[in-house]
Amino acid sequence: MEEKFDVIIVGAGLAGNIAAYLLAQAGLEVLIIERAEVPGSKNVTGGRLYSHSLEKIFPNFAEEAPVERKITKERVSFVTGDSATTIEYAAEGLGEQGKATYSILRSRFDPWLVEKAEEAGAMYVTGIRVDEVLVQDDKVVGVRAGEEEMYSDVVLLADGVNSLLAQQLGMKKELDPSQVAVGIKEVIRLGEEKINDRFGVSSEEGVAWLFAGDVSGGNIGGGFLYTDKEDLSVGIVTTIADIGYSDVAPREMVERLKEHPVVKPLLAGGKLMEYSAHLVTEGGYNMIPELYRDGVLLAGDAAALVMNLGYTIRGMDLCIESGKLAAETIIAAKEAGDFSKAFLSRYEKAMNDSFIMKDMKHYRKFPAFLERHRIFEQYPGMMDEMMKGMFEMYGQEPEKMTKRMLRPVKKIGLFRVGKDVLDGLGAL
Ligand SMILES: Cc1cc2nc3c(=O)[nH]c(=O)nc-3n(C[C@H](O)[C@H](O)[C@H](O)COP(=O)(O)OP(=O)(O)OC[C@H]3O[C@@H](n4cnc5c(N)ncnc54)[C@H](O)[C@@H]3O)c2cc1C
Repeated sequence: MEEKFDVIIVGAGLAGNIAAYLLAQAGLEVLIIERAEVPGSKNVTGGRLYSHSLEKIFPNFAEEAPVERKITKERVSFVTGDSATTIEYAAEGLGEQGKATYSILRSRFDPWLVEKAEEAGAMYVTGIRVDEVLVQDDKVVGVRAGEEEMYSDVVLLADGVNSLLAQQLGMKKELDPSQVAVGIKEVIRLGEEKINDRFGVSSEEGVAWLFAGDVSGGNIGGGFLYTDKEDLSVGIVTTIADIGYSDVAPREMVERLKEHPVVKPLLAGGKLMEYSAHLVTEGGYNMIPELYRDGVLLAGDAAALVMNLGYTIRGMDLCIESGKLAAETIIAAKEAGDFSKAFLSRYEKAMNDSFIMKDMKHYRKFPAFLERHRIFEQYPGMMDEMMKGMFEMYGQEPEKMTKRMLRPVKKIGLFRVGKDVLDGLGAL
């Protein structure tokens, strides 16, 4: 007789593991199938986890989980080839319980979640790729991996940004290059003490740093740097449709960031430990696909739950919450013995009531705003000139500060800059 599970989850990323943990804890028979031999080894994040959604599931998780550092300093830099105008924000409140954010490395963090789900009773099969979702009478009934078919009451697709399985079902369109970016990341080992010294932090504290401007050569995108315990996570994210706008290729963007005079000394003597590239969903609310059908739900990146707000990328807290909401819907469906589309529509309602859809809707205009190239091409230079106007003293003719400040703005156009500021704030 064929084996049948209550739930099959495809993908042991954040969304899949959280759902597996909660479902197993509720006593359901859960099979989670992951194509990587070691869960987490194929998963990439820039590095900052907004902790609030995970905190609800594992209170005080940071005491136990392999988080890297609590972020206590925020930096945003607008860079030209040889300068950086940096805003730094540091405050005690950044580390408050429930509001704290942590740098994490997925190769360390995901296996911890897997351990939790396994302890709760979830069954993992790794090193196996699911090739197809099985459908009978318009209802999803299981999956096929190679020659093997496995059946369940419901399938949760948590297979990430390029969910080919959701595409097969027609729930999601093929990725549009304008709605998706590529991220490249290097993990560079520096050692704890050097990181503390160079970034002015203690071993428990860390820095999140975003870079816009010369790094991407005008392409839509930018660089990031997160301090981990012993390593630095350094990389770029750039919109795929925009590659070719400038002659700077994504790989070169990483080099530009690493070679920038403000960044280079911070990396000196570091050893490359990991190199990865991954897609990032960027389309925001307008990209969210169909979330459920008879016998199937989508969670995490498979459901396009990522927001690029320019100064930060947020996906992990949304993925965790969606895994939780999917699990709660499935637990209710199991109790009712009803896995129909009508019953599973509760998932969408729960998503709409949660911070996920509220935030996704709130920020829905921002991806279009970021398509203005001058943000990446002209504003860093404008800020550089303004800073020079303020700080350079070399016996030059005196000039009114307003004139010095307005000259670089006028180069772009007063009206344009004013409109960008208003539109940017409006989109946030
Ligand atoms: C460069 C970069 C920077 C980012 N920065 C941040 C950040 O700082 N903060 C933040 O909150 N978010 C960030 N994000 C977004 C965040 O990382 C994602 O939203 C999140 O990792 C998605 O989790 P997930 O569980 O949905 O998918 P994933 O973590 O991608 O997991 C999907 C899993 O499914 C598996 N899988 C796929 N297909 C199959 C198949 N057919 N069969 C079996 N297994 C399969 C994969 O191997 C993988 O393990 C960033 C993303 C990138 C790429």
